Amino acid sequence: MEYDAVVVGAGPAGLMAARKIAKKGFSVLVLEKERDLGTRACAEAVSASAFQTAEIPPSPSLISNTIDGAYVFPPDESKMVKISGEYRGYILNKPLFLYALASEAASAGCDIQMRSEVKSVNVEGGEARSLVYEKKGELITVGFKYLVGADGVGSIVARTCGFDMGGYEIIPTIQYVMVNCKIPERNMIRVYLGNEVAPLGYVWVFAKNEYMANVGIGVRGKPAKPYLDRFIERHPEFFGNAKVIKEGGGGVPVGGQIRELVKGNVILCGDAAGQVIPITGGGIRSSMAAGSIAGEAVAHAIEEGDPTLLREYPLRYSEHWGSRISKSLKVLRVIETLPDDDLNTLGELLSGDDIIDLANGLDVKRVAAKLMLHPMVAVRIASRLI
Ligand SMILES: Cc1cc2nc3c(=O)[nH]c(=O)nc-3n(C[C@H](O)[C@H](O)[C@H](O)COP(=O)(O)OP(=O)(O)OC[C@H]3O[C@@H](n4cnc5c(N)ncnc54)[C@H](O)[C@@H]3O)c2cc1C
Repeated sequence: MEYDAVVVGAGPAGLMAARKIAKKGFSVLVLEKERDLGTRACAEAVSASAFQTAEIPPSPSLISNTIDGAYVFPPDESKMVKISGEYRGYILNKPLFLYALASEAASAGCDIQMRSEVKSVNVEGGEARSLVYEKKGELITVGFKYLVGADGVGSIVARTCGFDMGGYEIIPTIQYVMVNCKIPERNMIRVYLGNEVAPLGYVWVFAKNEYMANVGIGVRGKPAKPYLDRFIERHPEFFGNAKVIKEGGGGVPVGGQIRELVKGNVILCGDAAGQVIPITGGGIRSSMAAGSIAGEAVAHAIEEGDPTLLREYPLRYSEHWGSRISKSLKVLRVIETLPDDDLNTLGELLSGDDIIDLANGLDVKRVAAKLMLHPMVAVRIASRLI
């Protein structure tokens, strides 16, 4: 059997891509290796606009908690910065959110096969023509005109189709889902920084409801678990009698977008392509946006019988997301070199708006100009942000 397109991975990127291709009337097969959607650990935080990107309404059944703002704690927690105002978001119920995306894809006509792990891609003369996947112990070959690799970190599509993964950098994370937590102001997410707390990373505490929270850490160069356990021990006011009911983790690609997103008739999107905002590690919305644009480019290429039209995807994605990712990466490269004293100084000087702009790669120049007014900070930090 040959499909117009095969999509590997039923995460946010793959389900969006598949929906967009099927909506144009083309045949699409989605292959997912897991037996369920949303099994991978995730802190589940998205901005409110994620639902616009997903093109589904923010139904309460898909949301565990609403976010009204954030507290960002530098190493000296007394210098905490409050982010509030127009920044609204949600802690998703990610498995149900993915079911909703899968439902949209199915209603557009996609075939979705679970427990189907892609084992290899057959590339002939620079074109991928078929792949082999394993389902219930059986090896099945399927042909296609176009292939979408939305298979996350460690993408088999990227590896077997020869994508240049130079600069692809993964930060390891660990996350606990905890119950019987006592998190005050549960609509405010909490982020903790500092070389003692999370070397070259951060700890997050995102309440899911009045008793449950996603509590996680990303660190570089050190084992993450001891840092997370120590953080929990040092915050008995939140976790005194709390219990871990689920432990997970995984790599987050924080090194920025890979150089080539398209190779012949193959396209990569989402985590597979490094499309994560490097400072926050947030990739749900940016991956859905990538899947959506990638899917439209594939549909256009099928329609016109012209694989070169896949190039529309990197062009359109870089207009907004590509530049946000690269600006956020630049800020990360500066922040990760700072000692705790400098992080405390930033805590004193930066407002909530400034932190949002820096973290998301938005108006970095404005924040750098503000920091320039402080001579010591200007030399060490601000000049490097511009
Ligand atoms: C601990 C943690 C916390 C996070 N918290 C947040 C957060 O709060 N907010 C946010 O925006 N982002 C967060 N992220 C990042 C976010 O989860 C990802 O950026 C996003 O899910 C990427 O979507 P994707 O579709 O590209 O990849 P994925 O969600 O990884 O989906 C890829 C899919 O491909 C499947 N697959 C892989 N290989 C194969 C194969 N060979 N055959 C078939 N299927 C395969 C996988 O099983 C998976 O279902 C977090 C990540 C981690 C690890």
